[in-house]
Amino acid sequence: MAFKRSDGRKLTELRPMIAKVGVVPNADGSALFAFGSTVAIAAVYGPRKLHPQHMQNPATGILRCNYDLLSFSVYDRKRPGPSRRSQEISKVTEWALSPALYLESFPSSVVDVQIYILQADAGTRTAGINAASMALAHAGIPMRDLICSVAVGKNDKEVIIDLTKEEEDYKEGEGSTDFAVAKLANSDEFSLLQLDGKIQPEVVSKAISMAKDACIQIYEIQKKALKDCVEGVQNE
Ligand code: UDP
Repeated sequence: MAFKRSDGRKLTELRPMIAKVGVVPNADGSALFAFGSTVAIAAVYGPRKLHPQHMQNPATGILRCNYDLLSFSVYDRKRPGPSRRSQEISKVTEWALSPALYLESFPSSVVDVQIYILQADAGTRTAGINAASMALAHAGIPMRDLICSVAVGKNDKEVIIDLTKEEEDYKEGEGSTDFAVAKLANSDEFSLLQLDGKIQPEVVSKAISMAKDACIQIYEIQKKALKDCVEGVQNE
């Protein structure tokens, strides 16, 4: 019998996506990105002079990301404030986004990105990276490309894209694997490959190729949101 996902999606089918730019008026740039009921917003502040001064690097600017799940974004209320998990995701988000940015254009400066997860149903780091990439573009930060991100994984034996929390928690057979991927939209340069669980070496290339196909769709949605925003401003 053919494998069925609990929400009826095909193995390669993403959840419905929403992308919107300019959702935080007081930020220099902002965006919302959703995969189904996982919803992330990102707000960009800067570039501005980095303080304390001893942290400044006259050769380059730095990107500083702060990711957090809001307390009621999950079923079991999350204690407010940073955790080891949020610190780790903030760091990998910085690494995932940095290759797209010309940070050398902003010596001694910092670009701050605040990412908040309003609703979490797995894939929050990838939704956050997609929102942050759009927010950086919206802030007018010079970029080589947009960054597109998605989780690909395994549910027992099947390789599936954009796992829900239920799929991530699957424990039967080989259990589940969650593989977060981020890449520059217009090249094969990957900026994040973060594996949680087990995957056979021969399955990795299939998983990556599935993620690449998904990133093409994500890029289109991101681009459309940015274009809609520019056209909206021009029509005002
Ligand atoms: N989660 C939760 N409470 C927490 C952390 C995570 O309920 O304190 C849930 C949430 O739905 C999240 C999922 O577990 O999306 C998977 O978390 P993971 O650390 O794998 O990161 P993600 O897949 O969200 O990038």
